[in-house]
Amino acid sequence: MTAAATQGVATKGYATNGPEAKFEPFNFVRREVGPYDVLVDIDYCGICHSDIHQAKNEWPDVMPAMYPMVPGHEIVGHIAQVGSEVSKFKVGDVAGIGCFVDSCRECQPCKAGVEQFCQKGSAMTYNGTEMDRSTPTYGGYSNKYVIDEAYALKINGGQSLAGVAPLLCAGITTYSPLRRFKVGPGQKVGVVGLGGLGHMGVKLAAAMGADVTVLSTSPSKEQDAKALGATNFIVTRDPNNLAPHAWTFDFILDTVSADHDLTQYLNLLKVNGSMVIVGVPEKPAQIPAFSLIWGNHSLAGSAIGGIPETQEMLDFCAEHNITADVEVITADRIEEAYDRTIKSDVRYRFVIDMKAA
Ligand code: NAP
Ligand code: ZN
Repeated sequence: MTAAATQGVATKGYATNGPEAKFEPFNFVRREVGPYDVLVDIDYCGICHSDIHQAKNEWPDVMPAMYPMVPGHEIVGHIAQVGSEVSKFKVGDVAGIGCFVDSCRECQPCKAGVEQFCQKGSAMTYNGTEMDRSTPTYGGYSNKYVIDEAYALKINGGQSLAGVAPLLCAGITTYSPLRRFKVGPGQKVGVVGLGGLGHMGVKLAAAMGADVTVLSTSPSKEQDAKALGATNFIVTRDPNNLAPHAWTFDFILDTVSADHDLTQYLNLLKVNGSMVIVGVPEKPAQIPAFSLIWGNHSLAGSAIGGIPETQEMLDFCAEHNITADVEVITADRIEEAYDRTIKSDVRYRFVIDMKAA
């Protein structure tokens, strides 16, 4: 596959052409490096379950799939070129790119630093368009990205870059609600689902001082959960395992990617406890009013994080030496990684080595 264009940055990527199609090499051209742009040579790109949902067109009403699609929004690389007005980066710096690459910069959410909620619609890193609303965006399953410096993140710690890549989505998506709900010492926190997001939620909540319990369908993940920082592990397939924990949690983070029952987790919250959903199953959830009313429970959602908070999270992770636990693969193994992620058989994030592309 080749997208026709004459000027700009020749880029090698991996694209899918339909919900059942295999990934194939896809050569395309990114825009020329403008005055405020940086060119990032991509080292690593994580595989987020949102890539799978979108590649397979599982969110047709909200984010319909645009093919050819080059997914990938957990991107880390080195700055290869800077525009004439760039001040934040120099050639050779390490940079990150997350879920969006531009926004209107004028609306209230953009001014408040929550650009993901741009009222004109932010430019998603892939499966979207640039702010001109016509140029398609292609993601990090590719070897280069051209991005305005204001939407690229600085990576300062000396951590392994493969482990840093997933922070750009899984890291910020779990960090943001933990901060917003002021998770900290003395609190009992539950993380539902131990996948890419879940394992970051465990590491971050533990680093913030909370007492973390993992609620998982996979008994085989117990040892890992404890090594990641959890003190307790509950296998959720048997409801009898949950009953003794009713009324004990201050906060629960639900990262599950598939349709599931929320009630059993709401029933674990203390009086005034909160549960935040970050997972995006295909079908809407059923919430009996009593599971909220009885105990003054709150149920909320959270979407990634804005640029300032994403930078704060990266700096927090550098300070606490936190990275994702990753399995690094080459780009010819994307389908295998998708299949294993869907089966919850990932410990705990696949990351594609794009240097080999
Ligand atoms: P993932 O690595 O596949 O992890 C999901 C975990 O959910 C699995 O490891 C599994 O954990 C659990 N799970 C899977 N199927 C289940 C089922 N049928 N019943 C109960 N538990 C099940 O996915 P991820 O990359 O962490 O993403 C998780 C979800 O968050 C996805 O829907 C993704 O699209 C969404 N997401 C949202 C945002 C946001 O901004 N809100 C950002 C990124 C991703 P156990 O084996 O421990 O049960
Ligand atoms: Zn993601």
